[in-house]
Amino acid sequence: MGAISLEFLQEELQRLRDQGLLTTIRTVSSAQGAHFVADGRRVLNLGSNNYLGLANHPALVEAARKAIERLGIGPGAVRSIAGTMSIHLELESKLTAFKETEATVSLQSGFAANLAVIPLLVGEGDFIFSDELNHASIIDGCRLSRAKVVRYRHADPADLEAAMERELSTNHEARRLVITDGVFSMDGDLAPLPAIVAVARRHDAMVMVDDAHGEGVLGDHGRGIVHHFGLSGQVEVEVGTLSKAFGVMGGFVSGPRVLTDFLRQRGRPFIFSSAMTPADTAAACAAVDILTGDDSLVKRLWSNTDRFKAELARMGFDTGRSQTPITPVMIGDAQQAQTFSRLLFERGVFAQAISFPTVARGQARIRAMISAVHSPSDLDFALQQLHDVGMEVGVI
Ligand SMILES: *Cc1c(COP(=O)(O)O)cnc(C)c1O
Repeated sequence: MGAISLEFLQEELQRLRDQGLLTTIRTVSSAQGAHFVADGRRVLNLGSNNYLGLANHPALVEAARKAIERLGIGPGAVRSIAGTMSIHLELESKLTAFKETEATVSLQSGFAANLAVIPLLVGEGDFIFSDELNHASIIDGCRLSRAKVVRYRHADPADLEAAMERELSTNHEARRLVITDGVFSMDGDLAPLPAIVAVARRHDAMVMVDDAHGEGVLGDHGRGIVHHFGLSGQVEVEVGTLSKAFGVMGGFVSGPRVLTDFLRQRGRPFIFSSAMTPADTAAACAAVDILTGDDSLVKRLWSNTDRFKAELARMGFDTGRSQTPITPVMIGDAQQAQTFSRLLFERGVFAQAISFPTVARGQARIRAMISAVHSPSDLDFALQQLHDVGMEVGVI
């Protein structure tokens, strides 16, 4: 008896290759910073979510080192058995103060946070209204809940309201939850949160926002999209990640205490998967302290972003509907976007090509991520290479 052949996976891979949909995964052998070493080459890094340069910030490194010396490496267990350490609780209270919410629970990742919280709020017979461009981890969390998922048109409160009227007219008892990304990760646009909250209130629906790309970026000191729109206390659930602007690894759910109390009892990634490590947790604490105390990194992020986008527009590039440091450079064809990314890399600039299924077919793009730690000359260099490759492949 031999093993079952997995040849069908070879065929799937070949299909991806033929359609230009095979992602090139480069190997990075240095710290994440404005520059890094990818596939053995030192290049300018326009590919990471390290918005504020915290991923290799000395204060975070030092906090992690001290935590390892004091607390060791592993969390030992899932949190509900023996894995909740005082440093986890310390991080949670810092995040609660930073986000100006009532309580916070930390999890292993933003992905895990979505899987944990959504099934607690709705179940079979209930409704989720979900923006059609929501992140994959929201989509998976919705599936796990077994609620009926109704997708509304991207960032369209009128379509949300029409969907709610249609679905809820005969379902007066069912619970309803509206879920949206705060910042959409491939386009860099914002959810129209004030209008979404208003629609939700009219239909007695809870609102959940996944602020993965908003924390550390939007609002005073980077407190996130809820703060940006002045909606504190009006959004029931905020999901966040510690892996983007915060520069570490981990996720969290922030909101009313009753929500986090229940999550600690019944959130499956909380009770069945081990906790964040002491080092990650300590580093995340240091990141929150930096953001709380000083908004200069957030300000630099925005001045870099504004300058970069203004120059791209002047050159004739289309950056879609971006309102944030996520800067899509629209190409269209997936193969051409791959070529564009490869040519940039050969010229010393790393920026990933993004195509289907991450974005719709025919909307392939280069995704340039701006960081506070890019210097003016880094931006000049990036703009020059984008210009030259854009001319070479005929995008501008
Ligand atoms: C990146 C991202 C996540 C996943 O966060 P991780 O901490 O990396 O698991 C979840 N939601 C959104 C909207 C994201 O952009």
